Amino acid sequence: MGFKCLVFLLLSSMGGTYVEGELKADSGRVRVAVRLRPRNADDLLSDADFADCVELQPEMRRLKLRKNNWSSESYRFDEVFTESASQRRVYEVVAKPVVESVLNGYNGTVMAYGQTGTGKTYTLGRLGNDDASERGIMVRALEDIIANTSPTSDSVEISYVQLYMESIQDLLAPEKINIPITEDPRTGEVSLPGAAVVKIRDIDHFLQQLQIGEANRHAANTKLNTESSRSHAILMVYVRRSVHKKVEDEISSQEKVNRSDVPGGSRIPIVRKSKLLIVDLAGSERVDKSGSEGQLLEEAKFINLSLTSLGKCINALAENSPHIPIRDSKLTRLLRDSFGGSARTSLIITIGPSARHHAETTSTIMFGQRAMKIVNMVKLKEEFDYESLCRKLEKQVDQLTEEIERQQKLRKNDTDELEKRLIECQNTFAEAEKNLVTRSEFLEKENTRLELEMKDFLNELNHQKDLNVLMRDEVASLEMSLKHSKQYQLENSTCQQVLADTTQMYEKKIAELIKQLGDERARYETAGEQLDVIKKLLSESQQKIQQQKTENSTYQKALADTTQMYEKKIAELTKQLEDEHARFEGAEKQLDEAKNLLSCHQKPMQQDEIDELKMRLHEMGRHQELSVNELQSLQSEYNDLLSEKATLTEELHAVNQTLSVEEKQRKTIENELVKLKKLVLENDHDFEDKKSYVKESIGKESSAFGAPVGLHKSNPSRETISGQRATIAKICEEGKIFLILALLTSEDLDVQIHAVKVVANLAAEDINQEKIVEEGGLDALLLLLRSSKSTTILRVASGAIANLAMNELNQGLIISKGGGQLLANMASKTDDPQTLRMVAGAIANLCGNEKLHMMLKEEGGIKALLGMVRSGNSDVIAQVARGVANFAKCESRGIIQGHRKGRSLLVEDGALTWLISNCNTASASTRRHMELALCHLAQNENNAQDFKSSGGVRELKRIAAESTREDIQNLAKKTLKSTPFQAEIHAEL
Ligand code: ADP
Ligand code: MG
Repeated sequence: MGFKCLVFLLLSSMGGTYVEGELKADSGRVRVAVRLRPRNADDLLSDADFADCVELQPEMRRLKLRKNNWSSESYRFDEVFTESASQRRVYEVVAKPVVESVLNGYNGTVMAYGQTGTGKTYTLGRLGNDDASERGIMVRALEDIIANTSPTSDSVEISYVQLYMESIQDLLAPEKINIPITEDPRTGEVSLPGAAVVKIRDIDHFLQQLQIGEANRHAANTKLNTESSRSHAILMVYVRRSVHKKVEDEISSQEKVNRSDVPGGSRIPIVRKSKLLIVDLAGSERVDKSGSEGQLLEEAKFINLSLTSLGKCINALAENSPHIPIRDSKLTRLLRDSFGGSARTSLIITIGPSARHHAETTSTIMFGQRAMKIVNMVKLKEEFDYESLCRKLEKQVDQLTEEIERQQKLRKNDTDELEKRLIECQNTFAEAEKNLVTRSEFLEKENTRLELEMKDFLNELNHQKDLNVLMRDEVASLEMSLKHSKQYQLENSTCQQVLADTTQMYEKKIAELIKQLGDERARYETAGEQLDVIKKLLSESQQKIQQQKTENSTYQKALADTTQMYEKKIAELTKQLEDEHARFEGAEKQLDEAKNLLSCHQKPMQQDEIDELKMRLHEMGRHQELSVNELQSLQSEYNDLLSEKATLTEELHAVNQTLSVEEKQRKTIENELVKLKKLVLENDHDFEDKKSYVKESIGKESSAFGAPVGLHKSNPSRETISGQRATIAKICEEGKIFLILALLTSEDLDVQIHAVKVVANLAAEDINQEKIVEEGGLDALLLLLRSSKSTTILRVASGAIANLAMNELNQGLIISKGGGQLLANMASKTDDPQTLRMVAGAIANLCGNEKLHMMLKEEGGIKALLGMVRSGNSDVIAQVARGVANFAKCESRGIIQGHRKGRSLLVEDGALTWLISNCNTASASTRRHMELALCHLAQNENNAQDFKSSGGVRELKRIAAESTREDIQNLAKKTLKSTPFQAEIHAEL
């Protein structure tokens, strides 16, 4: 449950008077303004050589935050106050709307957040005793509140406390320490009942209280040995206003209905109670930066607890997180209503211009940006004034008692009248009853008559019903008989059909028999004819035999002599006959044989064929056998081949599997590569858009040279950039930086170029730098510088190293890994102005680390830096000047602090001559760096001789008189006043 939910819960759980009291809810975002403190002497002395880390665009309510030497980022606020903004305007824009809503009955909060020394107390708590225009928000708010409240009917009270190490101390009554926070379980209202509450009479009284508070704060801090910057100061203003007719108009009609429910409809006096919190938070700087140690660390932890937990709550609210950790600290408990609660809240974040505090300024701005996302539900709190209500109600009760008595009398009269009317009505009723009885008698008679008639009808109906039943039976029997006769008819026709069929069949059989008989008769007749022919043949044969017998007897008688002969002859003939007979028999036998032969005429032929066939069959059998053998051998061969095939298939399968695994691996690798390429491309765009120095170097047109870097590039939409940034951020979060770093050693030059661009881009964000170095990115980049032949790679890698060299830790690493020498070599080796600019930028960053000066010089870094001016390119020269200024500044600081002695290393390497002879000709910003370098170098007594001999004193005088920067003029003047130069100045005079 967050602040927001808590408010809703309260709304729904509050009953009775409080529900009536909650009149209005309104939503409003937390308003956030940013205020830039003017440069102070400190900034001027130590920072003048660096550009401001912010640039304000008040007309667009925008603030540009410089990220590094090449890029910056814009943020929008509800208001942006430049260093010249007046206290009055800050009050009117930031606090006045809150004060007005407090006067209307809403709770309000005004809060200042920022690093120590950026003007929180100046903005909120300045008393302005000497200069009325310097009055801060507290004084102006009370002035407005007092002017708008009535001293008789309203009240204004204050409490003033300090929260230090999770303990609340009263600043108006310093003996009260460890004041507990209490919360009203009904309303959720937070209060400090242990703190003194002072009723304010007028503004002077308030100023007095504020002064007491400041004195006590100072005393408490002295006692605790701390500074006010480590505690939170909280001013609470309680405003109580009775509502007049004018305000009453705001009440919704619904509320008016509720109000009229009150007996007598009398108006209830209402008071509106509201609270204004003005909170001067502890400095937001990081603990490590403030140099706390020992016991102070414990303290810092507690300060951090409250501020850290405020930051956490604001993050959670800005992200609409379901859990808001308000209970984690006292500060968040006190402010629970101010963020995401029911108060109107304005936050002013204060920043300084110095680039030294870049990180704090960035985190302050991000805090403000997140707070802008928080929406509060503002509620009006009103309560009934019960004492005066009670008095009013008593009066009303008296009036009503009298009224009741009057009413009772009137009611008695009414009752009498009504009773009279009742009797009249009863009479009329009796009359009506009599009429009703006569009417009902007549109706009864009529009823009996109709009943009789109905009975007759019923009888008739029954008779008709019986008849009906009889007829139905008859019809049924008739239908039955009809059905029977139909069945008989059907059977009859079947029999006739059968009879006709049988007759037809018999007739057919008789006809067949007659035909057979005819056939038999015809056969019989043929047999008779054959018999006649045989009889005729027989008689003819008998006649012939008779004739022969006659002839024979004649011959016997006539030819008795010749009987012998004839007998011989007969014997011969008989013999012949016998022969003939034998012959005949033979013939017959032959005939039979012939017949036999004829019958089995084809037999021998078949045998042949069979034989032949058998032979062929045999042959075929042999062939078949051969074929079978052949087939068998083929089959075994086939089996062998099959098993061979199976083994081959298995092998193929295994090979396929390994292939598919490899294919899969290849695909994943390809996908990864495509993703990376895309990423690289995206980042490439991002990189080129954001990093103008790389874009210039990659692009072939030289027209972009000399443009101020990173300020007027046509950037893609914010979303694209932030999307791409998110992708890069994701790479880092997912720990995939090593993937990109691995690509730095790719054989493919394109991939290598893309990878080095991404790395350079990542190196521009401080949060990635550590990761890159940890994963060996610095080594890889140095290796590229050492070995790559590609100008693009050399240029971008130098840029990446320049980015990494922004971080102090990395500077040491770069030098210890031989980066100084590498950069120096690169400086002398290349003539490409863009590469030279990167190299000069990197060396310039290294120059800002005093511990490395000696090594840098020994590795030829300074000479190389100065040598790069040969290119004549203004961007390169600007970086050289920046490096020299960095170096000189660190050196002079070292001399002031006493750990650096002797002639300047810069002077030894010839920087002075270059500075003196070119200072007056360079572009404005380069000149500023060169002038500063000269001023710093001049502060070292051991350089005095060099200054005198090379005309440096003249140049210093020129700077003191002509420099476009007042602070540099002052520095030059101060230097000239120092003793070593006095003599010369006098001499010249
Ligand atoms: P903080 O409370 O944030 O630590 P202070 O309000 O004490 O910072 O301011 C630090 C110094 O800067 C003070 O001397 C203050 O007078 C000065 N200062 C801050 N803001 C401004 C301003 N807007 N104009 C002039 N001086 C300022
Ligand atoms: Mg302060």
